[in-house]
Amino acid sequence: MRSVVLLSVVVGLVITVVNGQVPTPPPLQTPEPSTESPPETTAGSTEPEPEDLPLAEKCDEELCKLPNCRCSSTSIPGGLLPRDTPQFVTVTFDDGININNIITYRNTLYNRFNSNGCPAGATFYVSHEYTNYVLVNELYNRGFEIALHSISHQTPQTYWLEATRDIMKQEFGDQKIQMSHLANIPYESIKGMRIPFLQMTGNASFEIMKEYGLEYDCTWPTTTQTNPGLWPYTLDFASTQDCVVPPCPTASFPGTWIKPLVAWSDLQGVPCSFVDACFFAPNVLDEEAWFQFIVTNFERHYLGNRAPFGFFVHEAFLSAWPAITNAFVRFMDMVNNLPDAFMVNSHEVIDWVKNPVPVDKYKAQSCRGFIPTTCSATSCGPLNSSHNGMDYWMQICNVCPRVYPWVGNPLGL
Ligand SMILES: [Zn+2]
Repeated sequence: MRSVVLLSVVVGLVITVVNGQVPTPPPLQTPEPSTESPPETTAGSTEPEPEDLPLAEKCDEELCKLPNCRCSSTSIPGGLLPRDTPQFVTVTFDDGININNIITYRNTLYNRFNSNGCPAGATFYVSHEYTNYVLVNELYNRGFEIALHSISHQTPQTYWLEATRDIMKQEFGDQKIQMSHLANIPYESIKGMRIPFLQMTGNASFEIMKEYGLEYDCTWPTTTQTNPGLWPYTLDFASTQDCVVPPCPTASFPGTWIKPLVAWSDLQGVPCSFVDACFFAPNVLDEEAWFQFIVTNFERHYLGNRAPFGFFVHEAFLSAWPAITNAFVRFMDMVNNLPDAFMVNSHEVIDWVKNPVPVDKYKAQSCRGFIPTTCSATSCGPLNSSHNGMDYWMQICNVCPRVYPWVGNPLGL
């Protein structure tokens, strides 16, 4: 049962107004556009698989120091005391973005602010099929984080378990190029990834991350380092994290970050990585019990070592159960009213861990910035798909592709 419970993963985010009033958000920073250009897509790539990579060595705290290296550990970055440490809350939603689930995102996440006046964050791990890229552009321009969840998201799960480096290039490296192109968002704004079904692929996924400018992975659950919780760390050295969905990486990947999925504990103490995967959960109609369930899990972090708290969910779970959505909104309201807890984009957690500062100093920092973009919305179709022969229609922010974009032809040329 444990493996079943752990395999379903979702991330969700909900936002509401704090204290019944809408604070005026500080202006968003606008960074300079990057001149970084994406690599070519992998169409036609026939690179041989590398030999087995050497094993990473045991982590040496003297050699591995912030900002670019951190040993896997439950210790608070920067040696801070828990009371001086910001409690980050990362809400994440997985899979395609479409006209159905955008309603939930708009209703729960938009116009929500943390106690420092900065817009609350959330991260979307987006898979390609049936995604409406005009809506991805909308989420991006609302300041949320767009991350990768593969082009195909295909079954069976063994496809991912056995995936080679070249498959991961096609599913994630190419997806970054595809996402940037179809949603018209900056290539370099896409920094994170999560593999479907939380199925680790050994070294394969990590071998491609640096080439594509992917800074962190948010696939790897831990069920043993939950109290105190495991903080994000890099793969310069061997990880001490439990491997819940093997195979886990064995080689060294300098500067590549792991944002662990620190499991919740259900009502019977069984760990669950996604909220909608908790087996012994409260009655789906009982809002109060759900609110208490969420808060109990949150307090393990907030009253402990303040490791980032994840609310990972699928939108379908929330839209199916309004009482749970209400509990989730109440939880977000609570977090947004706490002076030392912050709903942020996942990548902001990595940024803080690199340069940890006490909560008072964190609150004085400017809000996250992003480069606003526009979308010339275009409706495309029918587009024939080579992988299943079906016709698809797409909403994108670019000129229409010739065929339906897919693995090996991510731009549909
Ligand atoms: Zn998924």
